[in-house]
Amino acid sequence: MEPGRFSRFPAEVDLIGFDHLASDKIATISFIVHDEDELARLTLLAKEPGSMTIGGEIELDPVATEDLRKQIEYKYEVAAGEFALASTSAYPTIANYPCYKNLQGSFQWMDDMVVKAQTISGLSVTKLDIGDSWYKTDTLTTTTGYDMFVLRVTGTQGNVATKAPFFIMSGIHAREMTPPELTSRWVQSLIEGYNNDADITAMLDSTEIHLLLQSNPDGRYVAETNQAAMRRKSMKPNTKKCATNSVGVDLNRNFPYQWGLTSGSSADACAETFRGTAASSEPEVQAIINYTKTIFPATQRKTDPQAPYNEATTMGVFVDVHSYSNLVLSPCIGYTAAGTTVDYAFKELGAAALTFELGTAFYQDCLTFENTIWPLNRQPLMLLAKISRAPYTMGQAPDVTALSASVSAGQVTITAAASDSAWSKSQVSTSQQAVAEIRAWVDAHPYSSNPGTGTVLTNGSVIVDISGLALGRHTVYVQATDSAGKRGPVTAAYFTK
Ligand SMILES: [Zn+2]
Repeated sequence: MEPGRFSRFPAEVDLIGFDHLASDKIATISFIVHDEDELARLTLLAKEPGSMTIGGEIELDPVATEDLRKQIEYKYEVAAGEFALASTSAYPTIANYPCYKNLQGSFQWMDDMVVKAQTISGLSVTKLDIGDSWYKTDTLTTTTGYDMFVLRVTGTQGNVATKAPFFIMSGIHAREMTPPELTSRWVQSLIEGYNNDADITAMLDSTEIHLLLQSNPDGRYVAETNQAAMRRKSMKPNTKKCATNSVGVDLNRNFPYQWGLTSGSSADACAETFRGTAASSEPEVQAIINYTKTIFPATQRKTDPQAPYNEATTMGVFVDVHSYSNLVLSPCIGYTAAGTTVDYAFKELGAAALTFELGTAFYQDCLTFENTIWPLNRQPLMLLAKISRAPYTMGQAPDVTALSASVSAGQVTITAAASDSAWSKSQVSTSQQAVAEIRAWVDAHPYSSNPGTGTVLTNGSVIVDISGLALGRHTVYVQATDSAGKRGPVTAAYFTK
C-alpha cells in the first residue's frame, strides 16, 4: 500500500501495526477484523480504486490471530480472577503486562542484584556505566536520557585466573518486550544459584557474565508508555520531517561491519531500518563497541573481517536477544541485515555471536512468556555461557548429561554420562563422535591454575579417596572429550562428607 493514499481505509479498521521495512513504497498494514461480515466489507473496500495499489488483497495472519486470541484469553482470565500469574513482578511493570519489569523497574532490579550479591560469599556483582543514551548526550533537548548500564556477574571461588567473557544484550529494539525480562530473569537465576547450584557456581567461577539489559533506553521508555506507536528505533531526531513515531535510528543497523549496505538497511531517516548518518554514529552503539572491546581478547580481533577465525583459541560468546520469530540466528546467514550487533561481534571483535529471536509477538502476552519463552530459553543460555571458554570446540564436544556423587566410608563414587549428540538439533549440525573419555576433579576447577590431572572414569564411574578432605560440602567437576580430542564444557555437582 502506498502511504498517503489509504486515508479512507484505516478510518474503517482497528489498526495494530504498520511496517515499511523493505522499501518506502510498500507497506504492510495489520488490523483486527472482528467478524465475517466485517471481513467481507473490508475486502470490498480494499479493492476500491485509490484504497490500495497492490492487488487490494487482505490476508489472514494465523500467528498474529493466535497471539491476539491468547492475549484476550489471558486478560479475561486475570480479570475474572481465574488465573493467578505464576510470577507477578516484584518491580514496577509495563501497563497491561504484569510479568515485565518496566525501564525504571529494570534499573531498580540492577541495584537490588548488587545489594543481594553482597550477602553471597564469593559472588561479585558490579553495575557499570558504559555510556549514555542519545537524549543524555544531547544538551538541547529537555528529555534527560539514561546511562547505559551493564551488570557484571562472576564468581571468585574457583581460583580461575582468566575468566571467559559472555556478553548478553537485550532491548536494542524498543518494542520487543520479552528480551529484557528473559535476560534479567536468567541473570537473577545465576545470582541466586551461586553457592546453591554446583553447575551455576562452577560456570560463574570461570566466566564473566556481562548483561546490557536496556540497550535502547530512550526508545524503550516510549515503547512502554505509548504502546500503539510500536517504537523500534532510538529517539534521535533528524532534519527530515518524519512523523513523530518515525524519528530515530535503528541501532541494530548502525554497527560498523557492512554499515551502509543498501540491501540490509535504509538511508531514509523515517524508515524503520534507518542506519544513521555514519557507521557507529550513535552514542548507544559507541558505548557497546567501546565496552565489548574491553572484555573480548584483543588478540582475536580481526583487522580483516573476512579472515577466518581461529577455532581452537577463540574465547567468548556475544548474544543479542530480540523478538520475535522463534529463531536462533548465526551472523551473516539467513537474514538480510547490515550493520548489526552480531555481525560486528563476529567479524570484527572475533567473538562467537548469536541472535535469539523469541516468541510470536513484540508485545507478547505474559502467558506465553511464563509458560514457553522463559522455561525454554534458560537452558540454552546456560549452555552458551558454559562453552564461552572455547565456543567453537566446546560446541562440537560432548556434554555431560548426568552426574552424581555418593559418599561412603572415606570414599566418593562419581558416576557420569556424556553424549556428543544430546544437544544437536535439526537446524544446526554439530560434529558427533564417540565419547573417548570422562574425567573428574574433586575440589579443583579444571580451569584453575593448577587443577592436577583429575581421574578418568571407567564405564561411567570412578571411586576417589576423600579421607584427606575436611568434613562438609565439596565439589566434583567433570568434563568429557570426544574421539577427535575436543573437550566439552564443565559440569559440576556437590557432595557432602
Ligand atoms: Zn529486534
